[in-house]
Amino acid sequence: MNILKNFDLMLAGKPPEKSPEVERLLEEIGMRAFGRSRELASVGAQCVCCGKPATEFRDQLSHREYQISKLCQVCQDKVFNEE
Ligand SMILES: [Zn+2]
Repeated sequence: MNILKNFDLMLAGKPPEKSPEVERLLEEIGMRAFGRSRELASVGAQCVCCGKPATEFRDQLSHREYQISKLCQVCQDKVFNEE
């Protein structure tokens, strides 16, 4: 289990490898951090953080990030642009 490795792969433009173990962990993190299921967010194309529809992304990378973190563009900006 190595989340940072997944991020590296993501940035390298490769599909992240997600074992069932990692899936479970991410689900667990999502439930604890946001009180929302990543699974359900994914099925409904929603953001796991704010619960709003996550259908528009700035670019490929952002869209790929959603597939991993289930964060919408707005929340991705909040998370990744810590200024
Ligand atoms: Zn959001």
